Amino acid sequence: MGKRLVIAAVAALAATVAAPAQQRQAELVTGSIPHAQPVSRGPAWSGESGASGDPSMSAEAIRAAAANFHDCLASLWPQAARRGVSRRVFDTTTAALTPDLHIMDLMDAQPEFTKAVWDYLDILVTDARIAKGRALLARYANVFDAVERAYGVDRYTIAAIWGVETNYGTLGGTKPVLQSTATLACIGRRQHYFRDEFLDTLAIIQRGDIPANRLLGSWAGAFGPTQFMPSAFLRYAVDFDGDGRRDVIDSVPDLIASTANNLKKDGWVPGATWGYEVVVPATFDFRLAGRAHAMSLADWQRAGVYRPQGKAYPHPDEQAWLLTPAGIQGPGFLMLHNFHVIMRYNPAEAYALAIGHLADRLRGGGAFVQHWPRYERVLTRAERLQMQQELDRHGFDVGEPDGRFGARTREAVRAFQARIGRVPDGFATAGLLKQLMAR
Ligand code: CA
Repeated sequence: MGKRLVIAAVAALAATVAAPAQQRQAELVTGSIPHAQPVSRGPAWSGESGASGDPSMSAEAIRAAAANFHDCLASLWPQAARRGVSRRVFDTTTAALTPDLHIMDLMDAQPEFTKAVWDYLDILVTDARIAKGRALLARYANVFDAVERAYGVDRYTIAAIWGVETNYGTLGGTKPVLQSTATLACIGRRQHYFRDEFLDTLAIIQRGDIPANRLLGSWAGAFGPTQFMPSAFLRYAVDFDGDGRRDVIDSVPDLIASTANNLKKDGWVPGATWGYEVVVPATFDFRLAGRAHAMSLADWQRAGVYRPQGKAYPHPDEQAWLLTPAGIQGPGFLMLHNFHVIMRYNPAEAYALAIGHLADRLRGGGAFVQHWPRYERVLTRAERLQMQQELDRHGFDVGEPDGRFGARTREAVRAFQARIGRVPDGFATAGLLKQLMAR
């Protein structure tokens, strides 16, 4: 899985407001280890079983794991010691920890309707976010200059990550990272993954990079304005202001350089962009869409996929794949290598697209030229299952209906669209489901 949970980014959208900068400055305690960890004062656990149906998410299993919380933490001591955590730090940081069971509700929250790509873009790329991003780029121009020289990573993309992940540090979450990761390490369905994140959090506190009382973040443990998971912090964080600590929460130079270093280590190509908005003709063979079919921009041009307003592809030899979130009804996007690098930072296409687009807007670019089909919505899981069953009933091969749309289902959707004389773009809409049911 990606080092950041998609869900962590979604959680960042929840309205939680970080302390003002002055207050944060006053709270900054260098190198000391508080005996009592900050403890979440958020909502209580619902007491209900999780919607995932995972046995470890039943109310009974959660209660049992919570009762065993301290024994579970104690059992992690040998692994903490191997990461260089001292007995004193381990004891002082874990002694007063209590699990935050509300996280179990958040982990299994399943919204009835998933948002469409355009909804995320509307939320994440606003005039206010563009203005604020430009103000930060101006205010920290010297830092961005130095970081671009040192890492070769585009400043607008870094600023866009800052803006998309937390609205420039204002929506980063207020849950203590140590408590969240400890809870997830010992309770619920992701314990294996979160044990490492918990142990890495201890290692961060041991090193004194960030004081424990400043380590606040999303319920999944992502922290700082660009939402580092503890493991990503240990891999990528750098001390750019030279004070001896890597502080991606309260030091803007460390934050900007660490985010750049992350992108660089993930393969960022200096001087290249993420991708382009493109016009896809109705005659296009949509079987060529998707990550599996990369070809050169020159070949895409030959296939009739062009940039709006007569813009040329600056580097026609670059390899790209075509993303068409709304089929023929919305804009297409040709994705270059750097889009994959952004996807490694945030493994959801909608977020990565928002980051790329916000970067372009910060650079001075315009909104997308083509319109989205705002009258459409994303199908629910039940509707996706129904669509597969209907396609199956009509003799199209979808495999075993499971509510997940893979290549086979998309191919079946395209075949049905072709049969009824629609553009076979594979875009599964509520209208198409109705037509399937009516026949
Ligand atoms: Ca520093």
